[in-house]
Amino acid sequence: MANTGPRNVTVIGAGVVGTATANYLLREGHKVTLIERDEPGKATSFGNLGGISPGSVVPVATPGMLKQIPKWLLDPEGPLFVRWYYLPQVMPWLIKFLMAGQRDRVYGISKALSALNGPTFEAYQPLLKAAGVEHLFHRTGQLFLYQSDESRKKDALGIELRTMTGQRCDVLNRDEIRQLEPALAPVFESAILMPDHGHCKNPFGLVQALAQHFTRSGGTYLNREVRGFEMGPNGPTKLRTDQGDLPVEDLVIAGGAWSNALTKQLGHNVPLESHRGYHVTVEDPGIVPRIMCFPVEHKFAITPMEMGLRIGGTVELAGLDAEPNYERARVLLRMGQRLIPGLKADKFTEWMGHRPCHPDSLPVIGASPRWKNVFFAFGHGHQGLLGASQTGKVLSELMSGKPLSMDLAPFRVDRF
Ligand SMILES: Cc1cc2nc3c(=O)[nH]c(=O)nc-3n(C[C@H](O)[C@H](O)[C@H](O)COP(=O)(O)OP(=O)(O)OC[C@H]3O[C@@H](n4cnc5c(N)ncnc54)[C@H](O)[C@@H]3O)c2cc1C
Repeated sequence: MANTGPRNVTVIGAGVVGTATANYLLREGHKVTLIERDEPGKATSFGNLGGISPGSVVPVATPGMLKQIPKWLLDPEGPLFVRWYYLPQVMPWLIKFLMAGQRDRVYGISKALSALNGPTFEAYQPLLKAAGVEHLFHRTGQLFLYQSDESRKKDALGIELRTMTGQRCDVLNRDEIRQLEPALAPVFESAILMPDHGHCKNPFGLVQALAQHFTRSGGTYLNREVRGFEMGPNGPTKLRTDQGDLPVEDLVIAGGAWSNALTKQLGHNVPLESHRGYHVTVEDPGIVPRIMCFPVEHKFAITPMEMGLRIGGTVELAGLDAEPNYERARVLLRMGQRLIPGLKADKFTEWMGHRPCHPDSLPVIGASPRWKNVFFAFGHGHQGLLGASQTGKVLSELMSGKPLSMDLAPFRVDRF
């Protein structure tokens, strides 16, 4: 795309992806409007685990997963939960998901994830600095913990893919784990320490700060719900909103798990499914780990945050509208208590959020092949906090006619 000069861009959705993108577009000199029906950062970006992992390149679907699924479904503490009435609806998506986990596809997906997630810290840096929230990021490492050597061997593909990114992976033994994180129960045989990873200690605070910085820098923020479009010959010319019509020139859809309601109306029906996840955040938790920890066998994560200790994970397939089942969050708390014996859990909050997931674990980023004024930035799944910064950067490069800092082909909307 040739250099186009300043554009008039409307971004729909003020989660971490939309706010990062809106800020990058503004930095490039475009006139930007950000539309959100709720409050910035109040949806999925509110309650994630804060993981910022440049070496996070392992797709959710991996070879051999099919064999594990029955065991997970039968285990009340398992990482996967399906509401049975939802199974027929989600089945076509699940089949695509399992296909994406075939060995020959996993390496390509991993390479694309590496291009997106690898530069996460560098791409966040100018945004954090400008918004005055550099203190929210801690690049102090992440610890992947294994209770048996057999589990570590089973995780060989994950370790291989992460090592391929060139990220440092240090193997720790039982004693070294104790020295690093004495708050953990002495049940872990080994661990992989990724010292160049880190976490954000307030994901909601991050999005709020990015949204405030956006308006301070001249962006326009509108609290509205977008319901549809008035179409012209080349694409949408107006947004139909709950508060009347709004003229648009260029459009970015960054509506997280709800994006398909809009993209469908533009003729792009993508397989976007919610991986509903849960967390508990324990206030005044006592002595806890200092860095983000992943007890790998249990498939959840523990992150020390500003507001307490956050324990989260789980994939629940039940769609966007079903009521949360907070028992899933309490299961996570109980597992956390077993692994952190000193955890005081007198006061905690529970939360459920919708990870916007495509079957191949990659988001959609880039231009619509149908409409020349429509662009996409959604579907970041389990990794949207870390993928948001580079998404914003590369989309603003694309829309400004600049050379792209990564290949967008694996992220095309029509790849499915
Ligand atoms: C338990 C859990 C743990 C996680 N841990 C991590 C982690 O450690 N690291 C990581 O990188 N990621 C993690 N994630 C994933 C991450 O939170 C998501 O990928 C990310 O928040 C998605 O951001 P988003 O901006 O695309 O979506 P959202 O934050 O959901 O934002 C989308 C916004 O669009 C708005 N919107 C949608 N449709 C419309 C409309 N029609 N009109 C107006 N507004 C609209 C919504 O109201 C919403 O505010 C986790 C997720 C969960 C659930």
